[in-house]
Amino acid sequence: MYSKILILRFPREVAHKPIVCHLVKDYDLMFNILNAQVLPRKEGILVLELYGEKKNFKSGVSFLKDQGVKVTNADQEVKRLEERCTHCGACTAVCPTGALHIRRPEMRVEFEEQKCSVCELCITACPTRAMRIRPTNKMFFE
Ligand code: SF4
Ligand code: SF4
Repeated sequence: MYSKILILRFPREVAHKPIVCHLVKDYDLMFNILNAQVLPRKEGILVLELYGEKKNFKSGVSFLKDQGVKVTNADQEVKRLEERCTHCGACTAVCPTGALHIRRPEMRVEFEEQKCSVCELCITACPTRAMRIRPTNKMFFE
């Protein structure tokens, strides 16, 4: 599974078309909409987490660009949903920076965000989807 947070800017001519639906139907991708806005000149901006197989992801993004949508990556950070973490330790095996590590003797998995390189390896390694990628700021619509 591959996932990224993308900022999609739809020019006025295509803002009314159901382009994003094709990502699901034709490219077998899934998405979570994080924010959406229509600007005064009728351009649309959509911030979404898009995920699926990497080759489908690339094809889907190419499709968006072919439709005239401007696609950019959002600045991202990794967060842990504490209530989802079972402290199974799977993420500590893949984390290259030691941001995720086991505290002994309690055997609890700690997450030190300041050590995180946002490599995203823990996101696919976590069986409960406790590790999430998020945009670092909310200034998408400036
Ligand atoms: S893999 Fe997920 S559930 Fe397991 S310790 Fe890491 S964050 Fe928690
Ligand atoms: S994104 Fe990479 S560096 Fe950050 S906690 Fe996950 S595995 Fe470790």
